[in-house]
Amino acid sequence: GEDLLVVKDLKKHFRLDRKTVLKAVDGISFSIKKGETLGLVGESGCGKSTVGRTLTRIYEPTSGEVEFNGMKIGGRIDRGTKRRLNHDMQMIFQDPYSSLNPRMTVTEIVSEGLVIHNPDMKPKERDKRVHELLELVGLNKSHAGRYPHEFSGGQRQRIGIARALAVEPEFIVADEPIAALDVSIQAQIVNLLKELQKDRGLTYLFIAHDLSMVKYISDRIAVMYLGTIVELAESEALYEKPLHPYTQALLSAIPLPDPDKERTREQIILSGDVPSPTDIPSGCRFRTRCPFAMDSCAAVDPVFREVEPGRQVACHLYDPEIMAKEGRELQHQ
Ligand code: SF4
Ligand code: MG
Repeated sequence: GEDLLVVKDLKKHFRLDRKTVLKAVDGISFSIKKGETLGLVGESGCGKSTVGRTLTRIYEPTSGEVEFNGMKIGGRIDRGTKRRLNHDMQMIFQDPYSSLNPRMTVTEIVSEGLVIHNPDMKPKERDKRVHELLELVGLNKSHAGRYPHEFSGGQRQRIGIARALAVEPEFIVADEPIAALDVSIQAQIVNLLKELQKDRGLTYLFIAHDLSMVKYISDRIAVMYLGTIVELAESEALYEKPLHPYTQALLSAIPLPDPDKERTREQIILSGDVPSPTDIPSGCRFRTRCPFAMDSCAAVDPVFREVEPGRQVACHLYDPEIMAKEGRELQHQ
């Protein structure tokens, strides 16, 4: 398929004071095809939400190239482009409790984008459109006049989805849309997002803090650690055989349904805490927690490169030159 979004070496740094720069996103590259879902996974503070907010231009990128639908949007953009992005890219947020204005009715919430982008639409037409959108997300027009507090978490997330869909965007950034919901509701929301994607050819960036649910929606998954992507692969390949030690650790934190497999599998336990994004370790930024760290890991920053078709990883264990220098056996080949 055709790429909808191409990101090259994107950075978003925040200057906190004269001496301190928080490198939330520190040089990431990936692309998303039309109609695809890319999962973006990492612990809190790894920069994944900042990626979403930088792509949708809630934040201005510090540097890097971003191309969306053939438009270059990495640097300065004019008001027309900004307006177009506000329409074509929508966000669904983690917390359906705080992302909906408590003083607005469902109709007002869902039609906000329509009022901005289709100002000529008659109120009656708009109401009709809102009712259609509510049906689409599994609610109905009897909900239209109510307020957010009258709904459950799952229903509120449906309202958030209806709001995002109102202007018929192409691309949706879903920032941990199920993290605040009961497990039983999570699958419903994931299924709804998948159905909507199939019917409308939507493209998703689906952000999550662990690997437990993302596989059900993602075609490919990018794993982030401390502002960079450490591994990117097709979902199945990633779960089948994670290459980066961090991906291995994230996966081994999820219990396996089969108790025999659970008992016998190799656990990767991480030591220490995630370093601060204001003070990133030299070389491989994962080395302070990596059980496989070697001398080269402190000295050389691993290159994010393709080790198999469609599969990229940033780790010296897969680099023949470094492994030869370390006198160790190359992983994986
Ligand atoms: Fe671990 Fe070294 Fe690979 Fe980094 S480069 S993940 S420290 S083995
Ligand atoms: Mg976040």
